[in-house]
Amino acid sequence: MSEATAQTTAPAAASAAAVLAVPRSGWHVATVASTRRETPNAARIELEVDGWPGNAAGQHLDVRLTAPDGYTATRSYSIASSGTGTHVTLAVDKLPDGEVSPYLVDEVRAGDMLEVHGPLGAFFVWAPDAAAAGDPAADATRDTRPVQLIAGGSGVVPLFAMAAAHDAAEDPTPFRLLYSVRSPDDVYFADALRRLAAASASLQLDLVYTRRAPEGWPSPPARITRDVLEAAVIPAAERPRVFVCGSTGFVERVADWLVELGHDARSIRTERYGGT
Ligand SMILES: Cc1cc2nc3c(=O)[nH]c(=O)nc-3n(C[C@H](O)[C@H](O)[C@H](O)COP(=O)(O)OP(=O)(O)OC[C@H]3O[C@@H](n4cnc5c(N)ncnc54)[C@H](O)[C@@H]3O)c2cc1C
Repeated sequence: MSEATAQTTAPAAASAAAVLAVPRSGWHVATVASTRRETPNAARIELEVDGWPGNAAGQHLDVRLTAPDGYTATRSYSIASSGTGTHVTLAVDKLPDGEVSPYLVDEVRAGDMLEVHGPLGAFFVWAPDAAAAGDPAADATRDTRPVQLIAGGSGVVPLFAMAAAHDAAEDPTPFRLLYSVRSPDDVYFADALRRLAAASASLQLDLVYTRRAPEGWPSPPARITRDVLEAAVIPAAERPRVFVCGSTGFVERVADWLVELGHDARSIRTERYGGT
């Protein structure tokens, strides 16, 4: 988006009633298969994407909305699903003053069409261990280090894709997720995460509540501190691969603390969603 169009006020894109149905170069037409409330402030959007090549766990795509006057607004969204096939799952948090997210959360309905570009991003991805999947040639490059996922709010979306892919592949790599949320109502993919965590070989789940904790929770609500982080992540001595995702402020704080705690900066991969 150019400087000029970026300054156009929010309703232009939010009122995008008609979205172009003809794919442009590099873009796909996605039909909304269904939407549902993910949390009180977020929606899960299931897409059928014409010509989608499939995606790895952790990748994202760009969504472009086009208003009837031609004004466009493009935003990135992580993909909560992975694998081959043309079905893509997104989960979008509504920023009250946002240009695009209120439209996606409140207005989009089954049957609507959106333009999407992707899959994007090759760095913030996790793939099942090829050796464990029966490819002996992969033994030499096998990475058996445990995986620590750290999410703030909607930053759990790509990490959920990784945890689900890990479970589906029955990959033996230890997986742990530290997930910071405002309240129990704000947990994305709550049922699926509970299921993955119940099969403890699949995922160890640690939740931190910042505003309201469930009844009987052992600690009062509070933001993640360096001490909480240290207690709830795989120790640096085990050399985990770490994926951190959330608002820019959250990611930068956590990444700094991880390095202070002795984690190798080269093993920390981050995805920043914006904001402070
Ligand atoms: C790679 C990538 C993947 C992403 N995946 C997801 C996802 O899966 N789900 C999701 O909900 N969002 C995701 N985002 C964020 C998304 O791209 C948008 O930034 C977000 O939806 C806000 O867009 P908007 O048009 O509603 O707000 P804007 O109109 O762009 O911004 C409104 C105001 O909110 C501030 N702001 C922008 N982003 C944030 C933020 N993340 N937190 C706090 N304040 C912010 C802006 O500075 C501005 O003041 C991702 C971002 C990136 C870069």
